[in-house]
Amino acid sequence: AQNIRVDQLRSHLANEAKLVAEGILPHFLDSRANSRLDATAKTMGKRIEARVTIIAPDGTVLGDTWEDPATMENHSTRPEVLAALSSDIGESTRYSTTVRQNMMYVAVPVSSQGKLLGIARVALSLAEVEKAANNLFLAVIRSMAVASLAVILAVALIARMITRPLRQITKATQKIASGQLDQEIHLRTNDEMGQLGHAFNEMAASLREMMTAVSDEKSKLATVLSSITDGVIMTDLGGNIMLANPAAERLFHFNESKVNGQPLIEVIRDHEIDGILKSCLRTSREQTAQVELQMTKRFLRVIAIPIAAVKLKGALILFQDLTEMRNLQTMRREFVGNISHELRTPLAGIKAIVETLKDGAIDDKEVARDFLNNIDVEVDGMTQMVAELLELSRIETGRVKLNLEPVDINEVVEEAISRLKPQAARQQVALLTDLSKDMPPVQVDKERIRQVIINLVHNAVKFTPQGGKVTVYTGSQKDSVIVSVSDTGIGISSEDLSHIFERFFKADKSRSSSGTGLGLAIARHTVQAHGGSIWAQSEEGKGSTFSFSLPVTQSLLKSHPSI
Ligand code: ADP
Repeated sequence: AQNIRVDQLRSHLANEAKLVAEGILPHFLDSRANSRLDATAKTMGKRIEARVTIIAPDGTVLGDTWEDPATMENHSTRPEVLAALSSDIGESTRYSTTVRQNMMYVAVPVSSQGKLLGIARVALSLAEVEKAANNLFLAVIRSMAVASLAVILAVALIARMITRPLRQITKATQKIASGQLDQEIHLRTNDEMGQLGHAFNEMAASLREMMTAVSDEKSKLATVLSSITDGVIMTDLGGNIMLANPAAERLFHFNESKVNGQPLIEVIRDHEIDGILKSCLRTSREQTAQVELQMTKRFLRVIAIPIAAVKLKGALILFQDLTEMRNLQTMRREFVGNISHELRTPLAGIKAIVETLKDGAIDDKEVARDFLNNIDVEVDGMTQMVAELLELSRIETGRVKLNLEPVDINEVVEEAISRLKPQAARQQVALLTDLSKDMPPVQVDKERIRQVIINLVHNAVKFTPQGGKVTVYTGSQKDSVIVSVSDTGIGISSEDLSHIFERFFKADKSRSSSGTGLGLAIARHTVQAHGGSIWAQSEEGKGSTFSFSLPVTQSLLKSHPSI
């Protein structure tokens, strides 16, 4: 740039020099004007803002813009002057001894009709040139700096504009990754960033939807798993537990949260079940077996099903608790056996009595009455059993209708006692009553409540050895009446006591004399149907007390104050 400048300056000076040469030519031709050459050099120099020097062909300085020509030395040896003399133009850049600074000189000859009249020289201080160049350079630098600053600012601004939404998106993405799915970003632009933000929001929304769907499915599965009564355990291919439901927890007494990842055998400690799982995993076939747990004596059907999903491989083990069913089946089997026995014994007795009567005993009036009484008792027992069977079938088919009427419970107790007096007498068991005087009336099915009392007293007599006694108490509380049957009999173990009201339950299975195991189940059902409750206390070897309560109907108290 400096060189170009210098070249431009040089040709500029050359032009000026030529113009000056042309301008001063008349002064040379007119000898009178010769003396004015110095003044001309001064005015011209001022006009073109350069130093103009006019030199005679012999080197004498005739005029100069900056100096007095009289004081100036001969210029004939100046390189630009020499060059101008020999050619058309001379130039030189050098230190001026006259003005003591670096100057650029351009000199041209002033001639007329081939005769050299003088030399016109134009000069510029290089410092000036440099200053101008420097100024230009500085200006360029400055404007470049301003431009760069503007560019940098613009870039920074654009970068900010681009990165701000990016940062926003990054932040939101990180939050989503950490599980906060409710992220939404708001970019007010419609460019690519805006589109990215929009796409991000859509992605977040569909992620939310998916997660909701997944957690819905999960909670559905959890609900199903926790509500089914069968135990469910899922294991991986190595037999380690991946999932277990509450029913399984109850069955094997473990805590689901602590068993995940543990081998099945360590959690349930049953080699038979572990064997079923192993063979299911080995053969990839469903395995079924019935297993009795050693610890809890539960009887289970175990079904191991292989799972072969894409990612999920292992086995699903189902545990169906068949204990109740098996117990019920056993009870029913015993029940049928008992009934046959119960019917055969009295029938055989009756048959024998009838035979004896036929064989002549009928003629002995005393004996005959005794025999008939015996037949009566046996028939009563059978009738009782048939009634129980009928009642049971009604309970099981849900066809029980209560025939409610206002009843004095003491009266019902008396009726039951009189029914069982003969049997108690035969077994030499004292049958006593201790009845409260002011019993409120109750609204009950008299027939059925009588049957309940008969059942309890019958049991008490049955399980009380000779010489013992059975007492029936009645009493009333705030809004209920209570009937208790207490005996001094054999009692019931506390283990049996909790099962006493279950159907077909009999404490001593080998005791052939006892009944069907239905009486107490029916009694409980009847009492509960009346809105009351029934319970038993007992001590083995000392006796038992069976009690039940019935609610007192307040309206009855007012309408039947007499009973
Ligand atoms: P069952 O027809 O066998 O008497 P229950 O349901 O009336 O049937 O009684 C069930 C079982 O409860 C009886 O088999 C007996 O073992 C026991 N039990 C009932 N009452 C008494 C009692 N008062 N004393 C001792 N054991 C009793």
